Amino acid sequence: MLKLNENYLKLPGSYLFAEIARRTAAYSAAHPDKRLIRLGIGDVTQPLPAACVEALKRAADEMGDKSTFMGYGPYEGYGFLREAIAAHDYAPFGAKITADEIFVSDGAKSDCGNIGDIFSEDCVVAVCDPVYPVYIDANAMSGRAGDYAHGKWSNIVYMPCTADNGFFPALPERTPDLIYLCFPNNPTGMAATAEQLRPWVDYANEHGSVILYDAAYRAYISDPSLPRSIYEIPGAEECAIEFCSFSKTAGFTGTRCGWTVIPRALRRGGESLYDMWMRRQSTKFNGTAYVIQRAAEAVYTPEGGEQVRALVGYYMNNARVIREGLERAGLEVYGGTDSPYIWFRAPDGQGSWEFFDRLLTEANVVTTPGEGFGPSGEGFIRLTAFGDADDTREAVERVRAVL
Ligand code: PLP
Repeated sequence: MLKLNENYLKLPGSYLFAEIARRTAAYSAAHPDKRLIRLGIGDVTQPLPAACVEALKRAADEMGDKSTFMGYGPYEGYGFLREAIAAHDYAPFGAKITADEIFVSDGAKSDCGNIGDIFSEDCVVAVCDPVYPVYIDANAMSGRAGDYAHGKWSNIVYMPCTADNGFFPALPERTPDLIYLCFPNNPTGMAATAEQLRPWVDYANEHGSVILYDAAYRAYISDPSLPRSIYEIPGAEECAIEFCSFSKTAGFTGTRCGWTVIPRALRRGGESLYDMWMRRQSTKFNGTAYVIQRAAEAVYTPEGGEQVRALVGYYMNNARVIREGLERAGLEVYGGTDSPYIWFRAPDGQGSWEFFDRLLTEANVVTTPGEGFGPSGEGFIRLTAFGDADDTREAVERVRAVL
């Protein structure tokens, strides 16, 4: 008899965003005259940079001409994009990553989730708490998480990131095989220093663990002393895989392009993880569309670079408006200086959902309750800087008025 993957049946369901949508819809239905401002979901609102749009159109024309038409591309992505990524996103920061260690993808989410394919079901996985839920759910689907009860999975190592430890995890007591780290962090908005990351690289090399480093928000780092890539830390090329994305850098959330780095020096059990991932990709993935890779390449042209900086600057100005506005209101605010997320403590000991409801009904601002990202997120709220600038200013004024 057919059996289902029972690991899926253990999943608690998409509680967070479904519940936000439910409460928001119920409020809207009861108050159709109220204009809600949504600073909850981390999706961008500004259009693609003009250089990317131009490249996309040129590539579309190539596809319509027999002499320049492209069929299946290389599984690891076209050389033109991998070379551009290596030259612009690694070499200038002293990270010795070459084009033949890069896999172009359709975004960071798929690779963060699918990377588990090359590791045993028995691997112990560690995540920060609070956390981007994909890391946990993807491992739960593969049977690595154990059982779910009271908001936690029995086999996952949760590493609390709280105000007390500066939202940076301590090395865990139980040694994990796979360690997900994400900086700048979603949801806390905190970036990591090289001094903070170095012990993790040393730990992973010493214990044979692999760090799965999510750098989807690297473009938002404004402090030049902060590492944009884990490979700025010596030894990381022997213990870390890095996931990156054009989604938040260049507005590609709907266009879909990212990349994953697996250095050739990264080996476990005598095997090359690059070779294993190549084997996986060549079986289950047929590449990112040529036109999209051309659009992504345009990010690295002089005009594309300028447009991307302007785009990131636009969102970072929103982040500043949110951060300063909430601080002036007397709130305890984190993030928003090297990241597009602002993480703040609900006042007077209120719970995440309680304060979410107050902001929804009294300020008509949709936020994300921190508890939805893990137990250590309770009592916090996440706001995103990806909204429209005028809406963001108004939302902050409305929140301040409530307080
Ligand atoms: N990683 C983190 C931490 C994210 O917050 C997100 C999206 O919100 C992603 C990855 C997904 O990025 P992509 O759009 O490239 O799939």
